[in-house]
Parts: sequence; structure tokens; C-alpha cells
Amino acid sequence: MTDCLFCKIVAKEIPAEIVYETDRTLAFRDINPQAPTHVLVIPKAHHANAAALAEADDGLADDVLKATHAVAVQEGVAESGYRVVFNTGAGAGQTVFHVHAHVLGGRGLNWPPG
Ligand code: AMP
Ligand code: ZN
Repeated sequence: MTDCLFCKIVAKEIPAEIVYETDRTLAFRDINPQAPTHVLVIPKAHHANAAALAEADDGLADDVLKATHAVAVQEGVAESGYRVVFNTGAGAGQTVFHVHAHVLGGRGLNWPPG
């Protein structure tokens, strides 16, 4: 997708602080962090949201979930606890329409979320 911010990060046309990468996934720090650890994990292939990713049916959702775990371990929050969030649709707060998992940790996280 030519006009997608996160596709441009995948293509290295826009800089990002990349913390983890596999052949099909990329993880980089959120530009506006909401916790000491706030990393976005994306598939390199463009899918608009988690619903589209779930329908991709090629194991890509599995890859993304595994990458969130690898990031949590690497960031040192796997033991203390962390949250994985897919805002899906504008009504849920999604603003970038290339699916991304927020990996949040490093502080106490309240429930329910706002
Ligand atoms: P969402 O609201 O769930 O779609 O999340 C989009 C996230 O992308 C927000 O947390 C933004 O802070 C983050 N974001 C926007 N632009 C960039 C960027 N250039 N690099 C890293 N994170 C970004
Ligand atoms: Zn994209």
C-alpha cells in the first residue's frame, strides 16, 4: 500500500526505532508511548486491522502473536506482565489502518481500559 504509514516504515521510507524483526513481522517503538514499554508489532504485509489479519488464513496472525511474546521477553516485561491490544476499527480507537499489536508494559495497567 503506497499511502500507508506503517507500510512506509516496513519499506524504511519513514524512520522508526525497530526493536525486533522477522521475515514476516516488524516491531518498533510507539512514537507516543503510553507505558515504559510501548512497542507496536505489525505484519509486514498490509492488512487493515485484526479482523482482516484473522481472515488472512496463512499463519500470519500466529507470527504476529509470537512476535509480541518475543518483544515482551526482550523488553523484560514478560514476567511482570504486559498487555497486547489490537484497536480494531475507528470506534475502538484505531487511527492507523495497518494492523498493529500494542505491547504495553513496565507499569501497572488498570482494567477495564478506557
Ligand atoms: P491506534 O490508535 O491503535 O491505531 O495506534 C496507532 C499508534 O501508532 C499510536 O499509538 C501512535 O502513537 C502510533 N504512531 C503513529 N505514527 C507513528 C510513527 N511514525 N512511528 C511510531 N508510532 C507511530
Ligand atoms: Zn500498510
